Amino acid sequence: MHELSLISNVIEAVERSAKENCICHVSIIKLEVGKMTAALPEALEFAFSVLPKDALFKNAKLEIKEKEVLLSCKDCSKTFVPPDLVQLFCTRCGSRQVDIVEGKELSIVYFEGE
Ligand SMILES: [Zn+2]
Repeated sequence: MHELSLISNVIEAVERSAKENCICHVSIIKLEVGKMTAALPEALEFAFSVLPKDALFKNAKLEIKEKEVLLSCKDCSKTFVPPDLVQLFCTRCGSRQVDIVEGKELSIVYFEGE
């Protein structure tokens, strides 16, 4: 499952950063998930609950925010949110030469703990 590897990267990154900052209990991890990652919030929550993790995460909760996909047209340089993610083309000139500017990453916005 795609979500398991995404979440295991998150766990690793938070664990490393928590140790650097002398945090022993993480309470909230806020994530921003681009719609293009095709990772469902419920599946991410599930992955987080089943993956083995440090005691650091005993009471940790995920807060997941979905992030819209943003495209940029190579032909007319318009930047836009696509109406759907099945057919990606420019809403101004119809070109299919589009770059994904945002929406294909999962990022940690912040995490809290003490
Ligand atoms: Zn265009």
